[in-house]
Parts: sequence; C-alpha cells; structure tokens
Amino acid sequence: MRGNPLSKTEYDFIIVGGGSAGATLARKLADSTPASILLIEGGPAYEDDPKVMYLKESLGLVGDPTYDYDYPLVPQERGNSLLRISRAKMLGGCSAHNDAWALRAPDADMDRWEAAGADGWNAATTGPYFEQVLTDMKVHPVTRTAELSQAWIAAAAERGWPEIDNTRGEYGQGISWVSLNEHEGLRYSTAMAYLFPLSDLAPNLTVQLETLVSRVLFDGTRAIGVETDRGSFYASKEIILSAGSIDTPKILMLSGVGPADHLAEVGIDVLIDSPGVGSNLQDHIETPVTWEATRPAGESINGLDLGMYASLGRSDEDFDTQITIGHFNYWLETEPFDELEHTELAFTFAPNVARPSSRGVVRLASSDWRDKPLVDPRYFTDEANEDEAKLIAGIKLAREFAQTEALRGWIVREIAPGPSVQTDEELGAYARRYSNTVYHPMCTAKMGSDDDPMAVVDGRLRVRGTEGLRVVDGSVMPEIVRVNPNITIVMIGARAADLIAEDHA
Ligand SMILES: Cc1cc2nc3c(=O)[nH]c(=O)nc-3n(C[C@H](O)[C@H](O)[C@H](O)COP(=O)(O)OP(=O)(O)OC[C@H]3O[C@@H](n4cnc5c(N)ncnc54)[C@H](O)[C@@H]3O)c2cc1C
Repeated sequence: MRGNPLSKTEYDFIIVGGGSAGATLARKLADSTPASILLIEGGPAYEDDPKVMYLKESLGLVGDPTYDYDYPLVPQERGNSLLRISRAKMLGGCSAHNDAWALRAPDADMDRWEAAGADGWNAATTGPYFEQVLTDMKVHPVTRTAELSQAWIAAAAERGWPEIDNTRGEYGQGISWVSLNEHEGLRYSTAMAYLFPLSDLAPNLTVQLETLVSRVLFDGTRAIGVETDRGSFYASKEIILSAGSIDTPKILMLSGVGPADHLAEVGIDVLIDSPGVGSNLQDHIETPVTWEATRPAGESINGLDLGMYASLGRSDEDFDTQITIGHFNYWLETEPFDELEHTELAFTFAPNVARPSSRGVVRLASSDWRDKPLVDPRYFTDEANEDEAKLIAGIKLAREFAQTEALRGWIVREIAPGPSVQTDEELGAYARRYSNTVYHPMCTAKMGSDDDPMAVVDGRLRVRGTEGLRVVDGSVMPEIVRVNPNITIVMIGARAADLIAEDHA
C-alpha cells in the first residue's frame, strides 16, 4: 500500500485500475473533493524502471509477461489469428508502455459521440478537458530534424497533399508532424503526470498496487465493494471501473452484469442483463508497407514523427484511414511477421482503418477470474468488406508515394509486400495475414441513450441498472475515435472527475 493508508477498509470511492483514465481520475477527484479514494492497480508502479520510464527503451515491453497481460485472440475467421492484444500491467496502464503519440480527437468525432447517444459529450464540452490534459501530460510536437521525415513532407507536397497541424486539432486528408507526451526522453504517462512520486500523494488518496480485482460486490443492485486477490475493500459512495476495454467488461461479467445468455453459459448468476457488456469491440487494424532504405533516417525522438490521413473508403468523411510512418523495419518480429524480410536500414508506411466497420466481442472463458478473457475482434468481418478494401487502397497509396521525386532517392526496393504482390486479391490476402492491431481496442461498455439496449453506461458514465457503479476508461466510447486514443481516454478520466464530484456535491 502506497500513500496514506486510512485506518479503515471502507473508502468513499474505489477506482479499479490506475491506467490512462484511472490514474487521471484518481488524482483529479482527490484534488477536487475531500473524499477518501482508494486506487487499486493490478501491476506495480515501476517508478524507477528505465525500460518503462524511457521512450526509446519501450519496444521490449510489449508481450513481456512481466509488464503485459498479453491477451491472445480467439482464432480469427479472416484476420491474423496470431496477433496479440498488449495491455500494460502497471500504474499508468498502457500510457506507461505505449508509443506516446498524443493526439487530440477530431471535433467531428466528439460530436458523433453525442449524436450516438452519449449525452453531454461533444466537441464543446470535451474541448476544455483536452486542453487541460495536453498541458498536464507535457504534450509537444516532435522535432522536425529527421531528413526522412522532411522527405515525406516534400513527397506529400509533390502529390498536392496539404501539411496539416494535429497539434492544433486539425484533421483532413494530409500529413502532419505529430505530438508526443514526452519530456527529456521520458514517456510522460498518466502515472508520471498525476501520481509520481508516490511518496507525495494527496492525503485522501491511497494507491494499492499489485492487487487484482475479481469482481464487484453488490447489495441488491448497489455496488458496495470489490473482491480482490488480497481480500475485499468497501466503498460508501461509488466503485469506478477503469480497468480498460478488455478487463472492465471481464470484471462486469464476473460480477453478473453482462449478456444473460453468455453468463448462463459460463455459470454466473445474472444480476443485470446488459447485452452491450463486452460487445461492440472496435479496434484500429493496420498492415505494413516496408522499403529498404538507402541511408539512415536522421535524428528523431522515437522514429515515429508523422501521421498521414486519407479518405479511402466509400463515405465522404474527411479521412477514414490513418497512416503511421516509421523510421525502421516493421516493428514486430513475432509470427507471422518474422516471415517478412528485416533489413538494417528500412522505413515503413502502415495504413490503419481509422473508422472500422467490423465489430468484435470480449467474453469470459469461464467463471474463474484467473482465466484470460476470450478476445475476438472479428477483424475484416464487416459485410461490405470495407476494412480490407481500405488497407488495399492504403498499400496502393504507399506505392504512389514511393514514386515521388522526394522519396525515390531513399528507396532501394520494396521489401513488403514486395513486387510480386499486385492484384487486389493478393494485396487483400497480404493485408489480412500481416495485419496487426494498433492496440486500440475500445467501446466494450459503451455510453448511450436509455432506448439503446446495447448502451452499458449513460452520459454520466453510470452503469445502467445499478447504483454506485461507473465505468471510466476506453470502453465507454460509443464509437472509436479516428486517431490514437490515449489523450481522449485521459480526457474521459479528467471529465469523469468533475461529473462524479458534481454528483456528490
Ligand atoms: C503497445 C501500445 C502502443 C500504443 N501506442 C499509443 C500511442 O502512441 N498513442 C495513443 O494515443 N495510444 C496508444 N496506445 C493505446 C492507449 O495507450 C490505450 O488505448 C490507453 O492507454 C487505454 O487506456 P485505459 O485507461 O482504457 O486502459 P489502461 O491504460 O490499459 O488501464 C487499465 C489499468 O487497469 C489495470 N487493471 C486491469 N485489470 C485489473 C484488475 N482486474 N484489477 C486491478 N487493476 C486492473 C491495468 O493494470 C491498467 O493499469 C497504445 C497501446 C499499446 C498497447
């Protein structure tokens, strides 16, 4: 137990999970109310571990069971069954092991949330919270020193693509230098921004590390506490689940809140039949196009300087595909990516489906909380096959850019997919086989209106059918945002603190 343990096991609020949303919520709620708050985190803090602290060291964290819950997928009908969903097991959650791209969501995406039934969540109401967290997380634009990145900007200009400025929230088809939550080489996670040093926490905030919550305890339909592998803890006001889009639905289902038919299948008594729990899973799926490079890319903070945004689908949205440009070979060397050639000098263009049409699920493997949940994103299963079509179009776009004057001198040859992969059928098969998650599973306990049976929480993030229980993390998104979601999730944590404080004023 770190912080200032109170001499009682009952707190006003218990927050489960100290990740992007949970750490933010804990700190902001502790600052704005005198209430006693217990933050229960499954992993350690790693306050001094250079692998966690330094952005350049971080690639090794993904998949390492010391740091990662590392969820396999159930066999995919059309996608890559070998890929794994990384979820950080540490204070700060995935904000403590991610790539630190810090992008404010497009205003249009926030307005779509409200239109989808998330009462009170729109560009105007979320804007001030985005501003707040961008400052707290020390978000700043990347350095613009890498020659390869400059060449991509020139290539975009050659093709008539504008340079836009994500750091000011600008989006649309174009290319942008991105922003990072980074400070002097350190990844500025939510643990760094809001909780460290743990020796100096606010007196009303207690952090209980390395403790896994198995279920919420109820009195009738009122949440009163949580059961953990270190005993039970109780809260007089509220329990707030911030365990992320995979573990929050898992905990809800283990607590009897979920799809009744599924709970019956695994032998759990149904408290609330909530079919949306674990449903509606949306993720960004990407595929790599990699070239052998003629020379090193040049100086960059983490070799991920640029985002591109393209409209490649059938809708008239300003962009539906995001492209990550990396100064290296494709980042995974696990199966099946180990089949791709890895040269020392390389760079990669990885389009991802920013507005996915496929929908997946998270389900329980059994009623035993120690079992990993069954994660089934059902990639590329949308009826119109739009998701695959966007990646095919993305690979073609990469090849068009490779022909520009600005990039031609950088390219020795295309390594992947490689010149033999040409027809739409071949490109689609490649895109699916070598698809990887951008690690953005969302929407598994979505917000929505009273008349939406799939809505798990209301606009104040309260779990429908219960009292004293909320969800505050990436699972509440009604629809995945079109960009890297971390800053949006931190914003959710910050706004939730105000909603909760208001409700208990
Ligand atoms: C490898 C990788 C790279 C990424 N790169 C970027 C990027 O560059 N930019 C970006 O915007 N997004 C990125 N993301 C996505 C982003 O970091 C996540 O979407 C976001 O951090 C999720 O926030 P969250 O609060 O919903 O969940 P998390 O941050 O995952 O927090 C959940 C917390 O709950 C804890 N927990 C889980 N189960 C339990 C339990 N039973 N009991 C107690 N505690 C529990 C976990 O230990 C964790 O601390 C990346 C993700 C990964 C994995």
